[in-house]
Amino acid sequence: MARTPREPNRLSSPRRVAGSVDDPAELAPAVSRPLVAWFKKTARDLPWRQTKDAYRIWVSEVMLQQTQVKTVIGYFHAFLDLFPTMKALAAAPEEKVLRAWEGLGYYRRARNLHAAAKMLVKHGHDNLPPDPVLLSTLPGMGEYTRNAVLSQAHGLALPIIEANSQRVLCRILGVQDDPARGPVKKWLWQSAAKLVCHSDPSAYNQALMELGALVCTPQKPGCLICPARPWCSASKTGEPESIPLKSERPAITRVWEVCMAACSGSGTHRCWLLFRRPATASRWAGLWEFAHQPMSQRDTPRDALYSLIQQLFPSDKPVETWNAGKVQHAITRYQVKLRVEVAQWEGKPAPQLTEHDAWAWLSPAEIATLPLSAPQRRVWEMVSAMPF
Ligand code: SF4
Repeated sequence: MARTPREPNRLSSPRRVAGSVDDPAELAPAVSRPLVAWFKKTARDLPWRQTKDAYRIWVSEVMLQQTQVKTVIGYFHAFLDLFPTMKALAAAPEEKVLRAWEGLGYYRRARNLHAAAKMLVKHGHDNLPPDPVLLSTLPGMGEYTRNAVLSQAHGLALPIIEANSQRVLCRILGVQDDPARGPVKKWLWQSAAKLVCHSDPSAYNQALMELGALVCTPQKPGCLICPARPWCSASKTGEPESIPLKSERPAITRVWEVCMAACSGSGTHRCWLLFRRPATASRWAGLWEFAHQPMSQRDTPRDALYSLIQQLFPSDKPVETWNAGKVQHAITRYQVKLRVEVAQWEGKPAPQLTEHDAWAWLSPAEIATLPLSAPQRRVWEMVSAMPF
């Protein structure tokens, strides 16, 4: 029998709109029925809604974290073509999983998904069991993902809160505090648990998310066509957009880096020097990259390139270098501009190895099968298309 997670302690209510119900449980049957009916009538036909297979729903939920639905659809099909079952995923090498994830970003999600599949298979499961406590022990399995999978695949009445459902709940319940604050977040989870629909938790949870995605949008929510309007505290204020309170965004920091695409040989025999980031790296662990490093404001691009060359090859010099262009990308609050320089080498000198780096001279065919981060893939597309 399924074990249920521990009940959270009761918490004091956050600051709320005047006239909001004291106890969210009072709204439970009234709100859930019209939401479920609305969802069944209007829901988008998405591929992960055509299955009750827990593994497939899990893959979709992990991909949908931080990524838009329209981007995920293609990746979802391609990933499941490669790894149609949890056992197939568990048996695959990590580089193949990361390559299939390439372009989705946040690669920790893929590594955790892979590690969790391996753990479950090792303990005799061929799919995710309806056991919230067991699933909580898996890497990358947060409360939202666990409950979304268990409610949709196994019909367990567990609450969910992600960005869309959080906005909807904050507005219905009139929460005026910042939902990112710990106590407010806990109160919201407790309230979501009281509101969850026991007769159809799958449709109800998806309805909350769908409503947030299509109707109760951050700007200009469609209150006039919303099935939750009769019970919604925010719509009664006339300014539903002001809920929830937004956290202050950190200021953007601009960073310049020099990136050296070192190559050797010519024509179809040309190969390129890349390194594999260590498995313990905080970002892009296990992915391959060209050499790169930050440039100080005092550096000219040429200074920065030769400083990088000096560190990697203290006793060798390239026969020729030239600028290939720029690649710009953003990571959290950093906006990074990579100045890409191609450096042609005589032979394949061995770079000075640092403790954690794994360098290799690779052919284009090898690079095609290896996982690269999105900006590094753009560097590769840029330099490999150069006419030389
Ligand atoms: S009534 Fe308006 S603010 Fe309230 S849940 Fe619906 S769309 Fe959102």
